[in-house]
Amino acid sequence: MSTTVSRTAEHLALAEAVTAHNYSPLPVVVTAAEGAWVTDVDGRRYLDCLAGYSALNFGHRHPALVAAARDQLDRVTLTSRAFGNDRLGPFARDLAALAGMDLVLPMNTGAEAVETAVKVARRWGYRVKGVPDGRARIVVAAGGFHGRTTTIVGFSTDPVARDGFGPFTPGFDVVPYGDAAALRAALTPETVAVLLEPVQGEAGVVVPPPGYLAAVRAACDEAGALFVADEVQSGLGRTGATFACDLEGVTPDVYVLGKALGGGILPVSAVVARRDVLGVVTPGSHGSTFGGNPLAAAVGHAVVRLLETGEYQARARELGARLSARLSELVGSGVTAVRTRGLWAGVDVDPALMNGAEACRRLAACGVLTKDTHGSTIRLAPPLVVTEEELDWAVDRLAAVVTGQTAGSSPR
Ligand SMILES: *Cc1c(COP(=O)(O)O)cnc(C)c1O
Repeated sequence: MSTTVSRTAEHLALAEAVTAHNYSPLPVVVTAAEGAWVTDVDGRRYLDCLAGYSALNFGHRHPALVAAARDQLDRVTLTSRAFGNDRLGPFARDLAALAGMDLVLPMNTGAEAVETAVKVARRWGYRVKGVPDGRARIVVAAGGFHGRTTTIVGFSTDPVARDGFGPFTPGFDVVPYGDAAALRAALTPETVAVLLEPVQGEAGVVVPPPGYLAAVRAACDEAGALFVADEVQSGLGRTGATFACDLEGVTPDVYVLGKALGGGILPVSAVVARRDVLGVVTPGSHGSTFGGNPLAAAVGHAVVRLLETGEYQARARELGARLSARLSELVGSGVTAVRTRGLWAGVDVDPALMNGAEACRRLAACGVLTKDTHGSTIRLAPPLVVTEEELDWAVDRLAAVVTGQTAGSSPR
C-alpha cells in the first residue's frame, strides 16, 4: 500500500480546492459502506462510530431500507404536494402512532423541521393561546444545537455558528440547560414554547439532571407554553428508547425529528404533534417542494417499521450499558469524564494529553471513525447494528489512544 499513490490525498486535495471550507474533515475518504463499517478509497476499513451524527442509526445500507428505496425508485420519486402520493399517508399515520401523536408535517432537513416548529409554535401562540400579534417568545437552552439557518444560529450560544451572520430573528430567550428554576423564571405570558434537546448532542452528549425534563413539562403546563422536544439526534432509538423523552416518562407537545428518519439514505424530517397544535397550519402558510415526497416517505415508513419492532431500542439499551461500563473504567486514564445515554457517549479527553481532534485523528489511524466536539470531547454514536465485539474493539482502541499506546494498532 505504501508504494501506491494515495488516492485519499488526491480526493482530499480536490474537495479542498473546489468546495467551501465549512468543514475540516478527518483525512479519510469513504467509497463504500455496509452496516457499521466503511471502506476508504485506499482499501482501508473503519468502524463507523459517528454514524452520520446518528443519521445512520440502522447502519449503512440497511437491507430493509435499501429495498424500500429501490422499490420506490421504480415507481415514483417526486410529486410535489400539489398532488397526493400513495406513500405519504401510510408513513405519516404510522409515524404519528409511533410518537403517540395525531399529525405529521413532513420536511427534509432537521433545520427545516426546527424552523417549522418555530413557525407552528408562534402561530399557535397567536391563534390558540391569544398572545398579541408579533409578541411571541420562545425559550431555548444554552449550548443547544438545532441547525444552521439564520433564525436558528441567531439563538445559538456558539459564537462560531453566529459570527458574521447577523442580523438575527428576535423573539428567543436563552436559559442555562439543566436548570429548571432558571427556565421557570424565563417563562412569561408571551412565551409560546420551550424548545430544547432532551439530551444535548452536539454539545457533547450532555445529559440533564434527573427530573429536568419533567420539570420542563410542568413549567410549560403552568405557563401555557408548548414543550417542543428537538429529538433530531436523540430520537429514533439512539438512547435505548424510541425518544429520549421516554426515558424520563415525559411527553412533549411537539417532537422535531430528522437524521435517522431518512435511514441514512436521504434527508427526511418531520414535526409530529397533536391536532390542536399542528392544526394551526393552513394551505399556503408553509411548505416544501420535497417534503413528504414518495421516496422519502417510503424510506421513512421503513424506518418506522424497524422501530416498531423495539429491537433497535433494546440493542441501544443493552450495548449502551456495556459501553457505559467500559468507558467509565477510562476515567482517570486519559479521560476526565464520560456521559452516556443508550448507545451514545460523550468522552472528555484529558486536555493535558491531547485535544479531541488529535484523539480522533489517532483513532482513525487505528480504524475507528468518530468526531470531536467542543475542543476535548469525543462523541461515540456507533450504528445500533454494531456488535458487542466490535464495540469492545473500538473501546480498546480508544483506551490505547487516550493512554498514548497506539503503536502497533492498525486498521482492519
Ligand atoms: C443535526 C441536528 C439538527 C439539524 O439537522 P440538519 O439535518 O443538519 O439540518 C437539528 N437539531 C438537532 C438536535 C440536531 O442534532
